[in-house]
Amino acid sequence: MKRICVIGVGYVGLVTGACFADLGNQVAALDIDEERIAGLKQGLMPIYEPGLEELVARNARSGRLLFTTSYPEALRQAEYVFIAVGTPEGVDGEADLKHVRAVAEAVARQMTGPLVVVNKSTVPVGTGDWVADIIRAHQPKPIPFSVVSCPEFLREGSAISDFMNPARTVLGSLDREAAEKVAQLHLPLRAPIVLTDLRTAEMIKYASNAFLATKISFINEIANICEALGADVKEVASGMGYDPRIGRYFLDAGLGYGGSCFPKDVKALAYMAAEKGRHPQLLQAVMDINADSRRQIVRKVGDLLGDLQGKVVGLLGLTFKPNTDDLREAPALEVAQRLISDGATVRAYDPVGMPRARALIPEVEMASDPYAMAKGADALVVCTEWNEFKNLDLVRVRDSMRQPVIVDGRNIYDPEWMRVLGFRYLGTGRGLGADGKAIAADGQG
Ligand code: NAD
Repeated sequence: MKRICVIGVGYVGLVTGACFADLGNQVAALDIDEERIAGLKQGLMPIYEPGLEELVARNARSGRLLFTTSYPEALRQAEYVFIAVGTPEGVDGEADLKHVRAVAEAVARQMTGPLVVVNKSTVPVGTGDWVADIIRAHQPKPIPFSVVSCPEFLREGSAISDFMNPARTVLGSLDREAAEKVAQLHLPLRAPIVLTDLRTAEMIKYASNAFLATKISFINEIANICEALGADVKEVASGMGYDPRIGRYFLDAGLGYGGSCFPKDVKALAYMAAEKGRHPQLLQAVMDINADSRRQIVRKVGDLLGDLQGKVVGLLGLTFKPNTDDLREAPALEVAQRLISDGATVRAYDPVGMPRARALIPEVEMASDPYAMAKGADALVVCTEWNEFKNLDLVRVRDSMRQPVIVDGRNIYDPEWMRVLGFRYLGTGRGLGADGKAIAADGQG
């Protein structure tokens, strides 16, 4: 059993703390958000993540997981401090490190014994050295510590399983002994461990996210060409995906990447490159294509309806992907705003995202279920591929709409079947337009 302190109890920190406690460690999870910590002490989850409530409850009951806002309490006897605070997009795409700085200063002031400071937040290359400088500068008296980078690769929606079964654990430090101590903590996860230096570990995280974002933008570029030439991108992706050099993952054409990681991380990497005089032209194209994917969906709705003025459009899904309540950089939010500025009235339904969405898009009426949303609508747009949307009673949906129009930003429906059902249906890169002809580059059939 090791004594671990996790700072920042969000998607990454809460999962990290609960999983390390479940592996038999003693974990203190600290956040500055008092409401969040008060709720957690009563078993209320601040985020939606499958399996999390039960995992937290089990480990809190056993006394291995405690929540606090007090640094002295959290750091008492801690051997490891995991930093898991947000690193949002700052000015010009640069990562904003104010939360990391605040944590480093607080840890420096409050530590009472030697510590391994492990950074899980996604931070620009060089941040590990910067954190070490901050700690040294703010310690009232010198106490030994080491900084290790341990970037997190979990995905919201499958975070617990990803944490417990990682594809690899990356650990970077100038202090090999400290990195090996952190490796010991991860041994029960039985994943390959990549031991490297601090900067390389930090770069592995950015390079991984940028590569995955590139795959998404690549397939969206192919989808766009498929539409013009009459090919089906879903079959193209599956034909490509059998090649082990390519792989099928992240080849789903649609509304592009969103969420709290890919958009900010690609921007931050491009910023880092540009700052050093490099020209990150591929990253720029990845971002441009992603931005385009949202505009194209709205254009398709306009093309099918003729004019959006006075039309009612329903959005199926709001969160940036299924099985999470996270709306950060969710494509649906931009789609809603674009539709509204083009004159449409927008409704939405999402299984878990609506309570948070109300504050972000107050003009959008939230429906009690997909059928209530479809009633009298001129078009529906699939923005998130929640499982429950895949098995809707589409005849009931069609019969209650004013016009049977569906634009599928996630390709969850079969175009042929939708035509048989009488929908005017446009997927993403599915070759044929709603009239059965290839869609020309200008969007006309
Ligand atoms: P989050 O916004 O869900 O949680 C961050 C938490 O940190 C919040 O609860 C906030 O109150 C707390 N916090 C902020 N300043 C603090 C301080 N000074 N002291 C204590 N707590 C403080 O963020 P997240 O999504 O968990 O992301 C955390 C980091 O992990 C980011 O760098 C992100 O890029 C990275 N990451 C996220 C994911 C993901 O899927 N969300 C995956 C991999 C990596």
